[in-house]
Amino acid sequence: MGNTLTYEDIEQKIKELEYKNKILSSKNTLYEKLEQAEKTIKEVEDSNKLKTSFLINMSHEIRTPLNSIIGFSNLLAGPDLTLSQKNEYINYIISNSNTLLHLLDDIINISRIEAGQLTIDKTECYINGLLGEIFTNFSKISKNKKNIELKLNPFLKVQDFSIFSDPVRIKQIFTNLLDNAFKYTKSGYIEFGYTIKDKETIRFFVKDTGVGIPKDKFEIIFEMFKQANYSATKEYDGSGLGLAISKKLVELLDGKIWVESIVDKGSTFYFTLPWKSYEVSEKEIAASNNIEKIYNWKDKKILIAEDIDSNYRFVEATLRHTKVNLLRANDGKQAVRICKLVDDIDLILMDIRMPIMNGYDAIYLIKKINKDIPIIALTAYANQGEKEKSLNAGCIGYIQKPIKPKLLLSILNNYLV
Ligand code: ADP
Repeated sequence: MGNTLTYEDIEQKIKELEYKNKILSSKNTLYEKLEQAEKTIKEVEDSNKLKTSFLINMSHEIRTPLNSIIGFSNLLAGPDLTLSQKNEYINYIISNSNTLLHLLDDIINISRIEAGQLTIDKTECYINGLLGEIFTNFSKISKNKKNIELKLNPFLKVQDFSIFSDPVRIKQIFTNLLDNAFKYTKSGYIEFGYTIKDKETIRFFVKDTGVGIPKDKFEIIFEMFKQANYSATKEYDGSGLGLAISKKLVELLDGKIWVESIVDKGSTFYFTLPWKSYEVSEKEIAASNNIEKIYNWKDKKILIAEDIDSNYRFVEATLRHTKVNLLRANDGKQAVRICKLVDDIDLILMDIRMPIMNGYDAIYLIKKINKDIPIIALTAYANQGEKEKSLNAGCIGYIQKPIKPKLLLSILNNYLV
């Protein structure tokens, strides 16, 4: 019976097995830890490489315009210059200074994004108003480039179409794409606008008839410092940061960006953003069904505190026919200051989310100056609990954005007559 295992033998074997298992599992943990450490080292090395190449790229990009500025400034200091030479040198200095400024903006933007410090401030964006503003800005450029026609093509024609997003960032993305479109197009047209793809997605576009982009570069142009080089000579200047910034901004707004292009024919850049169809309340339907009324408030004065241009323009356009006198504050602090200076304001439309001083703080201070002044709060529909909060703060009314023109007029009529 030499092979018979006693109870002690079995216990001993179990102990040995447990011990082996322990060693094995701690060995595995060690391997995992080692792998993790190797990965981290590689990531640090990669990010260091990226930082080094970022710095090398940057110093090159900064030096180029700076050298021009220094060079032409020296020439300008020279003797016997004709007026046309002086003008030529000054123009070089101005244009290179602008390039430098643009570059610094790009660097600040990309660093903020990388550090996770870029803030997204979602609010109601009246898309047609916003695109109209961009069109006006870029029309000036297209006037200098006589061979290029600039076209705006919005899908919906209604002024009050809005999405819940960040208008500042949308403008930044369009500005980058349109800057490029003008840079890489010699003649033809540049068109921008949007289409509604489905109930949840809006798709913006910037189309040009420029040099185009080879298919194998469709993806890499969105990476930092990557350019689709068309020729050995560097015909187009640029840092290669604009599209990388645009891509990050689109992603922060929960959208996608891509390009379709044919070399020598042109390119179309697309980006999507989410949007939800806005639930219209019964009160609003009732107000919109009212027979068109003509209001006359030419003796009345309204202060509108609103930081976003396109939102202010929208309210201004809605109220134009009433001949009401409008005052505008760009933030809460300005609103308080205006109330101190102007003592015959009949009503205030107060946006709640504003920079420098928000609507609630402004209402508190304004009520100290004039406790009877009627204030109506303007708030984004996504912010829960704002209605109670604004009424508690002393507002007589509350309007949710997107503002429906007829509703705004009928509410104001209650307090202005
Ligand atoms: P850059 O400062 O070089 O213009 P971007 O990041 O804005 O940097 O663009 C990256 C590259 O993508 C550009 O260098 C160019 O090769 C290509 N590109 C961007 N927009 C266009 C366009 N509208 N038409 C042709 N090529 C374009």
